Amino acid sequence: MSTTERQAKIRIVLVNTAHPGNIGGAARAMKNMGLAELYLVQPREYPAPRAIWRAAGARDVLANAKIVESVDEAIAGCGLVVGTSARERRIPWPLINPRECGERIWQEADTHEVALLFGREDRGLTNDELHKCHYHVHIPSNPEYSSLNLATAVQVLSYEIRMASLADAEGNLPSLQEWDQPPVAADDLENFHVHLAETMADLKFYDPENPKQLLTRMRRLFNRQRMDKMEVSILRGVLSAVQRLINK
Ligand code: SAH
Repeated sequence: MSTTERQAKIRIVLVNTAHPGNIGGAARAMKNMGLAELYLVQPREYPAPRAIWRAAGARDVLANAKIVESVDEAIAGCGLVVGTSARERRIPWPLINPRECGERIWQEADTHEVALLFGREDRGLTNDELHKCHYHVHIPSNPEYSSLNLATAVQVLSYEIRMASLADAEGNLPSLQEWDQPPVAADDLENFHVHLAETMADLKFYDPENPKQLLTRMRRLFNRQRMDKMEVSILRGVLSAVQRLINK
């Protein structure tokens, strides 16, 4: 696969961005590093002239940006989803550093679509959004002032993807182990979790009124496993069989 085709598999997703200047700045950062697929989930003020000014020579990236209603829509079809976080969260999640993030994204984009999620300027990503991710990445900034400007964070992580692509071109990046099945896509994984929750409720194993952290823990378990498409379809078959038995 050519470098351009692989770059086209990498989605930069900005969630609910408040300042259009950051959208333009992110577009520029991406184009400088050879990326082009920008997804905007419910941008608060867009389109906007300030986005175009800040994009400078990357107006084409803005013009091709996909504006969507939800994170689910933005990551549909992706076999790898990575979420950015400016700080530690309550439930620990598999964490990678920016370098590993660049390498992993570049390696996986050889075979499937990948997404890198960026949060709101004031609140970052919600826990629900972070729990849709396989990994979290944190730029190891000054703990006393850890939050980077949104477009700057896009710059740093796009640069790491760039470095991984250059290492790859020189034969210095190992490719991933071959697998017989594609990884499950984010939308199929989401449907699996809905089905799992429904079945556990049917079994009275959990009370939807009082979910505690069960569903989050199930998400973390299965995300860590990096299931393939076939494995998920087998598990869904098992859930359906259980449901048929209980509801008989
Ligand atoms: N107060 C917010 C900060 C959000 S900064 C919070 O505590 O989450 C806006 C976005 O920029 C973040 O959601 C993330 O996508 C990115 N970002 C900022 N600093 C970062 C860091 N140190 N590591 C990774 N992403 C960062």
